[in-house]
Amino acid sequence: MLIVSEAAVAELVGPDDALAAVEAVFAGMADGTARNFPVVREALGHADALYGFKSGFDREGGVLGVKAGGYWPGNAARDLTNHQSTVCLFDPDTGQCRALVAGNRLTALRTAAAAAVSIRHLAPPDAAVLGIVGAGHQAAFQLRAALRERPFRRVLGWNRHPERLEGLAAVAAEGGLPFESAGLERLGRDANVIITITSSFEPLLRAEHVQGPTHIAAMGTDTRGKQELDPALVARAACFTDEPEQAAALGECQHAVAAGRLETAAITPIGEVIRGRHRGRGEGAELTLFDGTGVGLQDLAVAALALRRAEAQGMAREVAL
Ligand code: NAD
Repeated sequence: MLIVSEAAVAELVGPDDALAAVEAVFAGMADGTARNFPVVREALGHADALYGFKSGFDREGGVLGVKAGGYWPGNAARDLTNHQSTVCLFDPDTGQCRALVAGNRLTALRTAAAAAVSIRHLAPPDAAVLGIVGAGHQAAFQLRAALRERPFRRVLGWNRHPERLEGLAAVAAEGGLPFESAGLERLGRDANVIITITSSFEPLLRAEHVQGPTHIAAMGTDTRGKQELDPALVARAACFTDEPEQAAALGECQHAVAAGRLETAAITPIGEVIRGRHRGRGEGAELTLFDGTGVGLQDLAVAALALRRAEAQGMAREVAL
């Protein structure tokens, strides 16, 4: 069995690689050649942690595996990432464990890649202002990946604790872009692309905040009860997602679905747009929403890529089970 460390992943997989891998597996999901298995996610009743498994099988790619891990909110105080995960890849022909791949950086990359894929396929082509809501660990990855998808001219950021926006200002500066801290009203009004990436349990962006042709990538809500958007805003949008059933159960769409303002059948898998079977934003569409719930196949796609590269470059460590 092979082991691929966090340090190796950081050398081997970048934002463009993650985007290509995630885009391909979203397309495979829409084709029915790749499928996710039911997610397990439980509150441990210990360390305030959420723990679970995301797994799936990509038949075309020959990738079978599971990501185990979750969210430990006390980790930051210990100088550790709150999200902790490890991907286990199996040989689909024998069931033998092929590799353990460190999953922390890969999770950040694959989540940022999902939003970037949605911007590539759904954002207004001339989007000039990017808004980002949230400034935790994941936000810098989101911003870096998103900036590659449109020739943005400035970035607006909002966070509950605005002093934490400094890190995002630095990422914008890497791309030579001005960054401003903004209230949600201004951010919603001025931004043409908005990424939400918080752990909020109540709506932050309201329907009246968002004006004009806009694409929202709602990435923070991945658990029942979490919420970043006003359901009226979701109901107004053309809704896209990674996995419609999951979006309706535990993604941002859960609240509009529960309120009877959105049908699960009206949420389009983004793979349909990638494959060209759905027109995406379409003529005259004002508001598009990508509900990025996070699926196991995203994790497996980037982990399989890291493993292939680690093997090719002699960066995987072999151990006997
Ligand atoms: P983090 O703990 O580093 O940061 C949390 C962020 O949420 C901070 O900006 C914080 O200010 C903000 N926040 C927390 N509670 C809030 C509230 N009540 N109102 C407004 N803002 C609030 O976490 P992270 O690693 O940056 O991840 C952010 C969120 O994204 C988490 O909820 C995480 O579960 C989710 N996530 C989703 C996916 C996916 O695939 N959809 C993947 C990774 C992370």
